[in-house]
Amino acid sequence: MKDIEEIIETDYEEKNLEQTDEQDEEDTSDENITTDNIPEEQTEDIKPDIKELIKSFQPLDYFDYVNLHIHSKYSDGKAEFEDIIKQAKEMGYHKIAICDHNTVEGHKLFKDDVLIPAVEFDCWCGYVFLHLLAYGIDVDNPVLDEFYAKTKKETEADIVRIFAKRDIKKLINAIHEAGGIAVLAHPACCWALNLDKFVGKLVSYGLDGIEVYYPYRRHRAIIRFATLRQIKEIAAKYNLIITGGTDCHTRNIMAY
Ligand SMILES: [Zn+2]
Ligand SMILES: [Zn+2]
Repeated sequence: MKDIEEIIETDYEEKNLEQTDEQDEEDTSDENITTDNIPEEQTEDIKPDIKELIKSFQPLDYFDYVNLHIHSKYSDGKAEFEDIIKQAKEMGYHKIAICDHNTVEGHKLFKDDVLIPAVEFDCWCGYVFLHLLAYGIDVDNPVLDEFYAKTKKETEADIVRIFAKRDIKKLINAIHEAGGIAVLAHPACCWALNLDKFVGKLVSYGLDGIEVYYPYRRHRAIIRFATLRQIKEIAAKYNLIITGGTDCHTRNIMAY
């Protein structure tokens, strides 16, 4: 479980400071695109470029208007998939992504303009266990079928998921073939001795992005592997797309 006091004491302060700096810088850019600028029909018929869409989100959009990491009952979350969509629309979110562990069952049944198709895969890269997020995938593309959970337990039980045998290189290729992008989830939770080197390796396999804005920095609320600043530096060094989400598993998507 996440230690909420820890989050409030350290990371939020740090994040808010960082976000303010960044917001100042980014406000001067001419290239700002907001989700409002994306024509309605583009989200309907032609798949918007997922990279451009995510790049258009500003740090302060997270987590009140954009939350790209939510779990539903299709994995180990407590909320009904369709209820998450309903809540997001009622609360005026621009975009959300429901990223259930190793499954897109919910996305096959429910589609909505507010919703980005996504999934969170468990896999290993050498001795490091990691969570890889895929955004903007065509959930009906069979190229990813072999990577999805075969049993319900593979979508919820840590003890089962830790034995995942997905080949990271093949997985990233398949995500790309399905039209999506591959993003390293909560990097500060990776047991990599050298996170910079580890991310560099993933980049050589085709990694597109890294989750930077998320409300915890400690693995199991105990060990701090990397600070927000370090992760942002790594993102900049490898020119990675920055994403953010609360990783909420709760019934109310504003709580985490
Ligand atoms: Zn995760
Ligand atoms: Zn997650």
